[in-house]
Amino acid sequence: MNMLLQHQKLAAGCKQRSVAQPSRGCVAARTGLRSGRVASRQGSVVTAVLTPPAKPESSNPVYTTMSLDGHNLKTAKPRLVVLGSGWGAMSFLKALPTSISDTYELIVVSPRNYFLYTPLLPAVATGTMEERSIVEPVRNFIVGKGEFYEALCKDIDPVAKELVCCFPEDAGLDSACFKMSYDVLVMAVGSVNNTFGIKGVDQYCFYFKSIEDANKLRSRVSECFERAALPATPEEERKKLLTFVVVGGGPTGVEVAAELYDMIEEDLSKLYPNIVKDVSIQVVELMDHVLSTYDRAISLYTADQFKRAGIKLVLNSRVASVEDGVVRVVNKANETTDIKFGACVWATGIAMNPLIRQLQEKLPGQSHFRSVLTDDCMRVKGSDGSIWAVGDAATIDQPKALDYAEQLFEQADTNRDGRLSLEELRQLLTAASKEFSHLEEHARFLDSQTGVKRFGGLVAKSLSPADAAAAAASGAQPFAALLDGSTEVTKDQFKEVLGKVDKGLRALPATAQVANQQGKYLASVFTNNRVTGAPELDAPLQEKVKPFRYFHKGSAAYVGSDKAVFDLPKIGPLTGTGAGFVWKSYETMSQFSFRNQCLVAADWLRTKIFGRDISRV
Ligand SMILES: Cc1cc2nc3c(=O)[nH]c(=O)nc-3n(C[C@H](O)[C@H](O)[C@H](O)COP(=O)(O)OP(=O)(O)OC[C@H]3O[C@@H](n4cnc5c(N)ncnc54)[C@H](O)[C@@H]3O)c2cc1C
Repeated sequence: MNMLLQHQKLAAGCKQRSVAQPSRGCVAARTGLRSGRVASRQGSVVTAVLTPPAKPESSNPVYTTMSLDGHNLKTAKPRLVVLGSGWGAMSFLKALPTSISDTYELIVVSPRNYFLYTPLLPAVATGTMEERSIVEPVRNFIVGKGEFYEALCKDIDPVAKELVCCFPEDAGLDSACFKMSYDVLVMAVGSVNNTFGIKGVDQYCFYFKSIEDANKLRSRVSECFERAALPATPEEERKKLLTFVVVGGGPTGVEVAAELYDMIEEDLSKLYPNIVKDVSIQVVELMDHVLSTYDRAISLYTADQFKRAGIKLVLNSRVASVEDGVVRVVNKANETTDIKFGACVWATGIAMNPLIRQLQEKLPGQSHFRSVLTDDCMRVKGSDGSIWAVGDAATIDQPKALDYAEQLFEQADTNRDGRLSLEELRQLLTAASKEFSHLEEHARFLDSQTGVKRFGGLVAKSLSPADAAAAAASGAQPFAALLDGSTEVTKDQFKEVLGKVDKGLRALPATAQVANQQGKYLASVFTNNRVTGAPELDAPLQEKVKPFRYFHKGSAAYVGSDKAVFDLPKIGPLTGTGAGFVWKSYETMSQFSFRNQCLVAADWLRTKIFGRDISRV
């Protein structure tokens, strides 16, 4: 306790020292860029030539440009460019009033000219929902507010404040690209799939992020059933074709498995009565339970629900490699199993968008491994306030535990021998997690490894050294690296692991809920203030803008057979058919437009009355 109090004083003092205006609005983004360009702008000449000239590719391309040369930010409208059309960007655009065009020249750039309502993507993959019901054209939301260009941003120059964007299908051709200047940039480019470098994933698995992914899976499931039904198909091949593997037991993996089960149980079993007995759905998960970020009771309920549905949970197991039709799985005891499959869905996690990586390299003070660091007003660190970021692409910078590693270690090392027992380390993490909330999950992990009972003793049992090494290598649990059989930890080991934990630090989860709230927050900042991206003009924002505050409404997942689970703050877990009804109602009402609310409601009804359409069109 003493250690904690001292530590808290230390942390508070440090925070104040590092913050320019501590008691006011947002913690300022550290400046790091030269900003000469703004001063050089005079007049307001915007050259926008949108038809790219047909010209051969060259190694030094001259792009069509939309420059802002001679543009005086004191009088002209700042050009506000938004990258992306997902949750963060669309909630931002939707919340902007039409009068925003009086203040900014708004331009949205995204390779997708529609918004995708991701929570219902698993339902599209099985035909419960039609794809058009869960997408909304971007242009519907920017009429009267600004312009939209269907293009992929390939390059950002944060010093010159310039972007290179290309029509997505022709992104490799210079002639399909154009250069555009900006005054203020909002990055809402999301994340990409994470293969964790596992061989064969990219080649043989179905990702699950886009409409194309869902359609490919829908088509593949249909193909597997048709092939399996052929008279010439041998039994072994039939079983393989009818085995559907989902890697990742998080909400997306669970929902994909649940939707597959519903489709097979409610429709395919009637259409393929002779082969349905050979169907197998398997969920591979690294942890010892699915939905591991939810309340433990929900994980247990889901496991029970899946057991009754015949969905096999392959727990405590990691995928070692994927080959054509075979996924190799290694369990806790280091035993290897080859699972033959007709389709394997990869739903394990997210990685950094390449554009964010590129931006990070050009900005000072950016070290996060998955997203760009922002201050608590969503301004990108090191961008002088000209770049803002929301959603999966952004992480609000948090105090780093590593900065306090020495003090934490010395306070925990009561006998001053320069080493900590695992129990001392556990106590250290438990106490420090009150200040550094991201350490809490690691404290819980060490609880399980040192035998402390939580949740009535339901937490994971100790990992074997091999599993601990695997968990550490995958980045899933950096503290597992300390469980190599030794019972003590040195200060250097402790610092090394703490550094890894800090690197993976996300203030908030990568969810639509967070991106949605951040988008709305940013819309209020841009509506109530004239943001120019020029530090000298934006200085008053430091005073006025209040930091973003996330309000967690809870988490939900569909688990099949019209049942759902909710993990609600203060209320706790809700499960079952009633929760399923609430889930469907919530997902229907959460559509951005009334049109889509109607389409989604109609799709639930259509599926119940007529069943799913399994045509492979
Ligand atoms: C199947 C599935 C189900 C999910 N279910 C839920 C759920 O139930 N609840 C929940 O809270 N979260 C859920 N999520 C997570 C949620 O979808 C994401 O956290 C959310 O989409 C993040 O929003 P974003 O705006 O950061 O990124 P996205 O919504 O991914 O949008 C990124 C946008 O950027 C565009 N883009 C990418 N690269 C570029 C570039 N170089 N230039 C310009 N534009 C670019 C993309 O085309 C896209 O329009 C789910 C995710 C998936 C995949």
